Amino acid sequence: MPDPSLQEAQRCGRHADVCQRVDEAEARKKAAVLNDELEAAIQIKSEITAIKAELAPETEVASWRDHVANGARDSSLRGTAERLEQRCRCMDDSFGRAALAVAVRNFGRCCPPAGPPKSLSELPGLLLRKRRAEQMSRAVEAASSGSARRTLEALTACLRAVARLLGACTEHLRELSGPEWSDEEREEAAGSDEFKGLLQGLGAARRILWRLGLAAELFLPGGDAAAVDDGDVAAADAAKLRELHAGAAQRLGEARSAWARLEAELAGLRVTLAAWEPDECFEVGGGPGAGQARSAPLCALCLLPAMPMGGLGAGSSEDGGAVSSLWKGGLWHVNCANFWARHTVGLLADLGLADPFA
Ligand SMILES: [Zn+2]
Repeated sequence: MPDPSLQEAQRCGRHADVCQRVDEAEARKKAAVLNDELEAAIQIKSEITAIKAELAPETEVASWRDHVANGARDSSLRGTAERLEQRCRCMDDSFGRAALAVAVRNFGRCCPPAGPPKSLSELPGLLLRKRRAEQMSRAVEAASSGSARRTLEALTACLRAVARLLGACTEHLRELSGPEWSDEEREEAAGSDEFKGLLQGLGAARRILWRLGLAAELFLPGGDAAAVDDGDVAAADAAKLRELHAGAAQRLGEARSAWARLEAELAGLRVTLAAWEPDECFEVGGGPGAGQARSAPLCALCLLPAMPMGGLGAGSSEDGGAVSSLWKGGLWHVNCANFWARHTVGLLADLGLADPFA
């Protein structure tokens, strides 16, 4: 049985919520009847009828139940985990072996547990995990055929760059909220093309930060202190890896704090960025072209699927933020390439890093 689409699974999750509301209302009705509160019971009864109208059609529910009962859990992820572990063990380079072992473990943690889910309401979350795990496995494979050290260094440099960029934007916005501006002047400035351009740029920076967060989730050890396995790793490599992990984790924290400060500044100016739903992005297999994302080429920088050059074909609505271009001998998200060229490359020398894409 094929997996339900994410939209279908989300409908299934909503259906499960409605069922719960029906149960709660039934319990209230029962209590009202027991207490001889007949008027209340009648009112709750009509409430129940209204809630039940939101339930999904029975045929659809039956197919979800089948899915849950059969636990149609894809065994391919288990096979992928074994293949990745083996690939990682066979690497000659001890640094790469240790770095990728962390990513393989993170991938394993993301894979949905074996066995059928306990209830319909678990289905959407499990599907998202599965989709993410598949994407993680592709990123690990891409990193293992390149240099794991370069992947981590590029991640660190990008996080530093995004924090700086967001800090500069926050300063810019702060000027606007200063007392020397009248409300009219502020309104005029907020309507200017320059300001609209800034907001658009912030939308792109938000997406870059999200992509970097996904890379960090895959390549950094998280709270796992014993992440670097010293077993068959040269001591110098293990030390270097720990240092890179710590540096990247610190930069990630700084970048996220910079984003929080920027959001606070925007809220103060009563400005909101265009709405955005990460789960619907092409990079994680959502939205238009979701099916193509599984086999789409990966961006050289963020290792997430990039829309094939030339787009998804005539007539399909596209996720403009995921378009790609050839650059430096690889495929890049256009905004990843812009971000690297404009904001990151200039910081490499300060960070003592060589350009991994030179
Ligand atoms: Zn990218």
